Amino acid sequence: MMHDTNYFCNEAKKLGVDLNEKQIQQFIQFYDMLIEKNKVMNLTAITDFDEVVEKHFLDSISLIRKYPLNQTCKILDLGTGAGFPGIPLKIAFPEIQITLVDSLNKRVLFLQEVIDALGLSGIVAVHGRAEDLGRNPNYREKFDLCVSRAVANLSSLSEYCIPFVKVGGYFISYKGGDCEEEVNQANSAFTKLGAKLSGLDSFSIGENSRSLVVIEKTHATKKAYPRKAGTPTKDPL
Ligand code: SAM
Repeated sequence: MMHDTNYFCNEAKKLGVDLNEKQIQQFIQFYDMLIEKNKVMNLTAITDFDEVVEKHFLDSISLIRKYPLNQTCKILDLGTGAGFPGIPLKIAFPEIQITLVDSLNKRVLFLQEVIDALGLSGIVAVHGRAEDLGRNPNYREKFDLCVSRAVANLSSLSEYCIPFVKVGGYFISYKGGDCEEEVNQANSAFTKLGAKLSGLDSFSIGENSRSLVVIEKTHATKKAYPRKAGTPTKDPL
């Protein structure tokens, strides 16, 4: 099926992202694979092309507002699900090195199919839980940036994500527009994990209010964190 990509290209350009023909084709191929697999597996509630563009693709790449992605850097996307924000980030910013993590293996297998079909490199899909990988020396404090969207409340999410970040690096959480209270409540979690709030960017994409919460890692995370699987959500810091 033909898809009108004018809106996508124009809005991406407003973010300073000039998509070339190859990248546009990769986005379309990803969309087609997502919709096909969604018939047999729960991947996305949104299926209309324009809505996927706005709520998944543009939302994912809006990260460029807060982080310079046109350079080599190591990123981890925690709880990537159907590949958001990680796959759009990799397509739009090919120089990044990105690790996609999800605890549901079916989704990780789908992501591997996408990576192979689109011919992406500098990207891996890993099956695992944040609480386990965050203690694994191959992942702990190995990333310049950890990102996450729609996975958990910010306090719990901080315990999932901050252990992956190098001192001096960032954890950026994608949230809805009205998240100030959630951010305030997570403040003590940031401190316990060796980090601090560095900025809150609220903006809109079409009619959707969105926020990027930027957290800077200032100290190594104590060995006690992350706690065992399930505890960060049951008993948030
Ligand atoms: N980030 C995607 C998005 O914005 O569309 C997916 C969001 S989906 C609601 C949440 C995902 O987080 C699920 O795929 C789930 O398997 C994963 N997840 C939840 N807890 C996790 C954990 N502790 N470690 C790794 N993945 C987790």
